Amino acid sequence: MQYKCTRNKAESLSAAQAIVQGISENGGLFVPESLPSYSADDLKQLCKKSYTERAAHIVADFLPEFTVEEIKECVESAYSEQKFPGGAAPLHRIAGSNQAFLELWHGPTCAFKDMALQLLPHLLTRSLKKTKCDKTAVILVATSGDTGKAALEGFRDVPDTKILVFYPDKGVSAMQQRQMNTQEGENVAVCAIEGNFDDAQTGVKRIFTNPEIRKELEDNGMLFSSANSINWGRLLPQIVYYFSAYCDAAEQRMLEMGQPLNIVVPTGNFGNILAAYYAKKMGLPIGKLICASNSNNVLTEFLSTGVYDRNRKFYTTISPSMDILVSSNLERLLFDLTGCNSDQVASWMTELNTTGRYSVGSELTAVLKDLFFSGCCDDAQTQKTIYEMFLSKNYLCDPHTAVASDVYEQYVKATGDKSTPTVIVSTASPYKFADSVLEAVAPAQKQEEDDFAKVQQLSSLTSTVAPAPIAQLQEKTIRFQNCCEVAQMPQVVLQMAGLEPKA
Ligand SMILES: *Cc1c(COP(=O)(O)O)cnc(C)c1O
Repeated sequence: MQYKCTRNKAESLSAAQAIVQGISENGGLFVPESLPSYSADDLKQLCKKSYTERAAHIVADFLPEFTVEEIKECVESAYSEQKFPGGAAPLHRIAGSNQAFLELWHGPTCAFKDMALQLLPHLLTRSLKKTKCDKTAVILVATSGDTGKAALEGFRDVPDTKILVFYPDKGVSAMQQRQMNTQEGENVAVCAIEGNFDDAQTGVKRIFTNPEIRKELEDNGMLFSSANSINWGRLLPQIVYYFSAYCDAAEQRMLEMGQPLNIVVPTGNFGNILAAYYAKKMGLPIGKLICASNSNNVLTEFLSTGVYDRNRKFYTTISPSMDILVSSNLERLLFDLTGCNSDQVASWMTELNTTGRYSVGSELTAVLKDLFFSGCCDDAQTQKTIYEMFLSKNYLCDPHTAVASDVYEQYVKATGDKSTPTVIVSTASPYKFADSVLEAVAPAQKQEEDDFAKVQQLSSLTSTVAPAPIAQLQEKTIRFQNCCEVAQMPQVVLQMAGLEPKA
């Protein structure tokens, strides 16, 4: 199976090359040239397997250059019980309803990014070898919070890799900062920068494309690589859990084999919901794809009108991982829905860059409306949903999951469809956002000052238990406290790579 570029379909790469390269030089994204298809029988076979076996089976279909044994090794180290003590992607049924939450946050950093970032390092290091590259990969990440920590955990002590994460000094929560500054591992480094997320991101991009630094690294047996969310190696692991959720729903008698299952996804960069779309195309009986946004509702509008317009106010919300106005992975959907028309996609992306807006026309809009239902939810409504979910269903959820839950209610109201079994994707532990969750469940209560005291407070108030990676954070030693100016970032990179910075 070869991979094509969304902005130039003549460009063709192997799976390993697509994973190593991450993004095309023309800015396009890599997609498989065809999708494997799963019959009802295949699905039944899959249902008998464990999560790692399901993952091995599906991942193998997309990576023909990998042996069965290699893939087995990759998924077994990624989704071990030690890494995911609560199971990799358990389905939490809500009693007396046809709803279930797919909990994707039982990994080392308590957010769903672990599902992809635990596997990617294994795929990447093997892909490097397959492309005859015997260099050490230096991963640079600019993060606004969740991705940095998940990438650090994923690459921690992975042979032949080093990882360096930059974050905006005042742009992440205290808990997120603590998560990163206490990171363990011999091949990791973390550095705050004086600036915002955009400064960090621009700084990283500049280093990536700086020929002198690249040369210096290459001369010393290293090369830059990326753990960015548009890498195919991050999308592929996400297809697996939709198949797994369907199997678990069937096993739990939530549905009959073959019956459609609706999927609700709290969406930011459009990666998670795109994986569900691919699963549907591969033959998984998925009904509606329900796309949930917070006040940054550019996708809500796009999926119902066909007009993508990023010229709007940017909101900072209590579901920060969805605070995004350019959803990069949407490009892959457009490529697919236009029958791989890369010229058309490239021209829309140029319009987006120049005017901030493009329109896909009425025919494609009708297709989008048939596939997707879209809705949005502001902070007040998010908190109300957290409160009501806890009160009426005894289920404590984080703000991102609450957005999804609220948009599902909007779907039921709008369509009258109460009967289709539905999976709501739960993307983070509520303890990662202890302050907004506390405020939602106990608005009258005075909150503790200290972040760990807040975690304790949430635990006693709700009789739930904080996940170990958050509870144990307090005892961890702080290893990284450096902060640099944007101009110093290249020096920090060279130092971390063990190279003396040039004067
Ligand atoms: C990244 C993230 C999302 C958004 O997922 P996309 O794949 O970018 O759409 C939602 N919730 C949480 C908690 C996240 O970390």
